[in-house]
Amino acid sequence: MNTEYGMVRPEDARTGMTHGVPLDPEKLPDLPLVAHPLDPAFPDEHWYSVKCAPQDLEELIRTPKYHTWQGEQWLFCCGRPAVFAGTLNSLSLAKFVPQIGAPPQDILDGLASQLGIQLPISLQDLDGGSVGVYVFRCQECQGLLSHVDYD
Ligand SMILES: [Zn+2]
Repeated sequence: MNTEYGMVRPEDARTGMTHGVPLDPEKLPDLPLVAHPLDPAFPDEHWYSVKCAPQDLEELIRTPKYHTWQGEQWLFCCGRPAVFAGTLNSLSLAKFVPQIGAPPQDILDGLASQLGIQLPISLQDLDGGSVGVYVFRCQECQGLLSHVDYD
């Protein structure tokens, strides 16, 4: 299973760590990270794995993948893999923002800003399938997270 912090294979799940990704040591996320030894061939690359409970990673690799354009990228929050909550479109919008009265595009704009999505997106883009917004919910803080891809 691919995550924002690298692949999780069965052997990674058993050790409770993602395979790892290069990160900027000045801008590390608030997660339990394990720094990899520096590779003398690539002294500017600082690789990190996220450490979490082996049972959380074992559950993650047994979870069905969700459909994307570019491939799944499971997200983490509060030291655990978040739960995939669904793909954002006009049918699912109310599931993420139970808000009555505002025009759907205004609700979408509010959610996009809450999720930190930089580019403007429209319901037509989402429903037409040219943009995919994949929403996750943290199991601990209940916060929403997302990643975006394009066809
Ligand atoms: Zn959280």
